Amino acid sequence: MSVLLDPRVFPGYNDLPYENDVEPDYYTQNHRGVFEPRRHWCFMGEIVDDTHSDSAFLRHRMNVRDRDGAVIPVFFYLDADIRDTFDATVLKNGNTLFARYAQQHSFMDGSEGLRLEEPELFRVVPFAMEAILDAYKEGDGWAQDGKVCRKCEAKATHRCGKCKKAFYCTRECQTDHWKAHRPTCKILTAVGPVTALDHTRFTDFVSFT
Ligand SMILES: [Zn+2]
Ligand SMILES: [Zn+2]
Repeated sequence: MSVLLDPRVFPGYNDLPYENDVEPDYYTQNHRGVFEPRRHWCFMGEIVDDTHSDSAFLRHRMNVRDRDGAVIPVFFYLDADIRDTFDATVLKNGNTLFARYAQQHSFMDGSEGLRLEEPELFRVVPFAMEAILDAYKEGDGWAQDGKVCRKCEAKATHRCGKCKKAFYCTRECQTDHWKAHRPTCKILTAVGPVTALDHTRFTDFVSFT
């Protein structure tokens, strides 16, 4: 199963660790006695209210809906030099936010949500969360079929160079099938960098490149 479909690896807000705790499911003590993550995780949520987001403001704020249906506020605390180069146009309704190592955060006013400071640890893709989950379910289905041509079901040897998940027996089959494959391929290709990581092993924090 793809890690994206695993809510333990891509948890909703209520399953994230709280910022001031060291929850045993997420953290372990290393040989120096320091707590560090025992695995990677990544919050996933679709932007549902971007009306507070404005590049003229110092800080971006928006609401996202997580995989459990919870709507939570997200605040971006970006340094001034990053803010100037950050493409805020991706922060719009219907896009999906991924935030690695996200933690539950309590704001000064007592409300809860995400506080994101490091742009290399979050990524926004221009697809709805439901569509992303569907694409990964479809991709999992292909994996179960083994190396079978998506077009003619013959034994397949080469795979789509973009998503690297769909197999084809020949170029002709791939070309014939492109129209049908394209929507899923686009999503798998865009989200690929988010899921391409062995999430079970932690040696250091891994940012999106
Ligand atoms: Zn074929
Ligand atoms: Zn593809």
